[in-house]
Amino acid sequence: MTGRRATGAVDSRCPSCAALVLTQWVGTVAALKVTANLQPLTPAEQHAVREPNRLIWCLYRASAHSPPRLRWITASHPPGCRHPHVTEHRCTTEPHTLF
Ligand SMILES: [Zn+2]
Ligand SMILES: [Zn+2]
Repeated sequence: MTGRRATGAVDSRCPSCAALVLTQWVGTVAALKVTANLQPLTPAEQHAVREPNRLIWCLYRASAHSPPRLRWITASHPPGCRHPHVTEHRCTTEPHTLF
């Protein structure tokens, strides 16, 4: 941990549609690279966008000054979780370059 303020270090923009997204490796074993929207979803929205191939992530923050971290929503996840829940970013436009 450093005392340096990480302004703009976590947030990034999608190169295709310029939406604010967070890209992160999630998990310690068989980590998954996730690009998630930073827009929090209501429970109804989460239900509407949930698909087998589209996961909902918990945007966990240890404190108001900590950078957000995506974490799995497991069966033991608290139903009254106070962290925003977000979903994978999906572009409305096709990216021109794939990495
Ligand atoms: Zn949560
Ligand atoms: Zn995009």
